[in-house]
Amino acid sequence: MTILVLMGPPGSGKGTQAQVLAGRLGMPAISTGDIFRANVADRTDLGNRAQDFVDAGEYVPDQLTNQMVRERLAAKDTRHGFVLDGYPRTLDQVEVLDELLANQDRKLDAVVVLDVDPDHLVQRLLHRAELEHRSDDTEDVIRRRLQVYNEQTHPLIKVYDERGLIIPVDGTGEIDEVTARILHLADSLENRGS
Ligand code: AMP
Repeated sequence: MTILVLMGPPGSGKGTQAQVLAGRLGMPAISTGDIFRANVADRTDLGNRAQDFVDAGEYVPDQLTNQMVRERLAAKDTRHGFVLDGYPRTLDQVEVLDELLANQDRKLDAVVVLDVDPDHLVQRLLHRAELEHRSDDTEDVIRRRLQVYNEQTHPLIKVYDERGLIIPVDGTGEIDEVTARILHLADSLENRGS
């Protein structure tokens, strides 16, 4: 059983890599951003409460986010492990995840941090904006999302590093190259302790 977190600034490719990685490892990728977007599109109560935050590039309040993750992680498909994409993003979320995993007698195996040159991030996101038309891929909102990441999420790297969980991965290059780098490390994870 493997539990991974993929972390990195907006545009670092964590969503893509989380999906590929989860597919190879045969477990679900859980993307809080995708869950919020689906709820916004379906106009659910959660979606209506999250929409203004998502559109502005601000984080959805912890209470709402944590409750959603609590419910998602209770699903049966997570029992052999999962890859978290975009969660945790705040210190409060780190604590809630710790508590959730401890209650299930599970623990985090690694936090993969995708590293990409900040100048490339905005270019990548603007390119994606042309393809996907996400409501938060306008230039102003992109800059706000990068700022929010630096202020609220980047500090988590230190917290997880103190626990020896951080695995930095170069996120530049083709999707396949980055996947190969992560899989190489996933292999060593699977062999760890065996
Ligand atoms: P993402 O697709 O991961 O870039 O997430 C898109 C947006 O969803 C973010 O800019 C936030 O508004 C919201 N979001 C996703 N994950 C979280 C989280 N862990 N905490 C708070 N807000 C989140």
